[in-house]
Amino acid sequence: MNTTVTKKTMKVLVLNNFAVGQTHLGQSVFAARSFRVGDVITQFTGETFHKSEIPKRYKGEDDRFVQIGQDQFMGPSGGVDDLINHSCDPNSGLKFNSENIYLVALKDIAEGDEITWDYSTTMFENNWKMKCDCKSGSCRKIIGDFSLLDRELQQKYKELNVIPQYIKDYMDSPEYPVYTEAIEQMKLHGKTKR
Ligand SMILES: [Zn+2]
Repeated sequence: MNTTVTKKTMKVLVLNNFAVGQTHLGQSVFAARSFRVGDVITQFTGETFHKSEIPKRYKGEDDRFVQIGQDQFMGPSGGVDDLINHSCDPNSGLKFNSENIYLVALKDIAEGDEITWDYSTTMFENNWKMKCDCKSGSCRKIIGDFSLLDRELQQKYKELNVIPQYIKDYMDSPEYPVYTEAIEQMKLHGKTKR
């Protein structure tokens, strides 16, 4: 598949850049060429669904729908974007513009490296969680909402510009510091009780 998409600020060339292999997490996507920081790796595509249209079971590990709006989810495309695993220490992230979603390299990626992104960067669902076994040193063990990430990590993803508008809005809202403080306290309380 060769697709050239030209946007105002991004020129995208998608070639046969990937290899699909197996890891302990199942199907996984590996780079078949190197990528430099900032390179567009691929585009995320798929039909858009309102959250009410998605049965709970399809938010699972096999048929994951990616949240792309407060109430909107993107369904599977049948392409490589469906298979890219989560990591708590990802080498890529999703950049949103008004029309499209691109996966962009956050680190230099060598040929043969697994390509990963942090699923929590788009999650704002309030009650959906998935166990994590990404084996990175910073593994959070649970993949949950963006609002549950450590503040520093939220800021880092914001600075990298790999969060969607509804999460930017959340971080810019007057309630953000109050809400974040409450969550930090909750985490602290949880830790001291153990
Ligand atoms: Zn993890």
